[in-house]
Amino acid sequence: MSQQLTIDGFAFAREGGALQGTLLVSELTRVHDQLAVVSGEVRFSVQGKLMKTVIGVGEPQLRLRIRGILQLACQRCLGAIAFDLDVDSLFLLVSEDAELTQDEIENDSCDVLPVGRELDLAALIEDEILLALPVAPRHGRCDMPGDGEAGERANPFAVLTGLKGRLN
Ligand SMILES: [Zn+2]
Repeated sequence: MSQQLTIDGFAFAREGGALQGTLLVSELTRVHDQLAVVSGEVRFSVQGKLMKTVIGVGEPQLRLRIRGILQLACQRCLGAIAFDLDVDSLFLLVSEDAELTQDEIENDSCDVLPVGRELDLAALIEDEILLALPVAPRHGRCDMPGDGEAGERANPFAVLTGLKGRLN
């Protein structure tokens, strides 16, 4: 069961809303196929704002950041590879039934996100995580002693990645 995490996207942007929290990896069910170990959690923060345009109209935007360590499954040995998830996405909110111009669809600086009355943040976070994952993750070397065990043990790469995240 995913936790319910819905906002009114347009009101959230208009009011400059801010929200942060964590999601358990076990709740991100669409990501599970890519994982060697389903454990831990990801932290997220969402910020809404009205971005002033040249003609003075505020464009509703959402900035979504997600951090966490995921234990991806190696495509060769199915062992765990620690992946340092670091998502920072900017969305331009448009009404669900708006007709998009080609310019809006091809906007490089942010993604266009069609929303209705309710925006399901948990689903959006899951989408963004799926987009951020490497297509075919593999160990540099698969013959690490202890690989192939249950995988709950700390992987040396996980420790390194964790340290790296903290130093940045
Ligand atoms: Zn491997």
